Amino acid sequence: MANGIGRLLGSSLGRERFQARAQRARKLATRYPAAAQALEFFAAASEAQAEGLNLEGVHRLLRRVAPEPLASLTVTPEEVESYLRFPDPSRLSSVAARILLEQDPPVAPQVVDPPKLGCPRCGHPAQLGVLRPVAEGAALAMACSLCRQEWGVSRRVCPVCESESLEFYSAADYPATLIQMCGACKTYFHILDVTKDPELVPEADEIAGQPFDVWAMDQGYVKIFPNWVGL
Ligand SMILES: [Zn+2]
Ligand SMILES: [Zn+2]
Repeated sequence: MANGIGRLLGSSLGRERFQARAQRARKLATRYPAAAQALEFFAAASEAQAEGLNLEGVHRLLRRVAPEPLASLTVTPEEVESYLRFPDPSRLSSVAARILLEQDPPVAPQVVDPPKLGCPRCGHPAQLGVLRPVAEGAALAMACSLCRQEWGVSRRVCPVCESESLEFYSAADYPATLIQMCGACKTYFHILDVTKDPELVPEADEIAGQPFDVWAMDQGYVKIFPNWVGL
């Protein structure tokens, strides 16, 4: 099969990362009942990725653990290939494509019309922010929605439009999550703060914070790029 789809076992994220985030998602599911269903789905998918999935395996996974209409989804190899060049999260097939491609993401961008906040490794859009400890405090990185690569950005300005009119929201139940909202371009994203919780796994903890998404969208803000569960 053409590039990407045929060579999937031996993931670049690594078996340990998939296993670690599956464990993290299961733990978060007990702590955050509102997001439990989404986290259990994410955990089951991550466990399957740790073992290595092909497209048929993704279909079996979705039938086993996903709600409808995902459960009866059939995705073609062409749709998966297409997601590499046109990462359109509004298509239902994008969920299957992301689960499959995350195991062996492209090492050079193939995206047509690359987004401003595009990953330097694979070209796909940034999904969330991560604060990691550095000597003087914490540094902000954006994390890719496909290959999870992180790259540094300024904390002072919106990474989408460079405006300084940023607002930050947090909630007592989520001590390591900040929501960064830009008043100028009306985008938002989650920032997962590793200095507050060294055990967090950004893409798992972001799903746990889904009440923030409901709230932010209610205010008319648009997320920079949705996660697998569509938020
Ligand atoms: Zn990437
Ligand atoms: Zn902005």
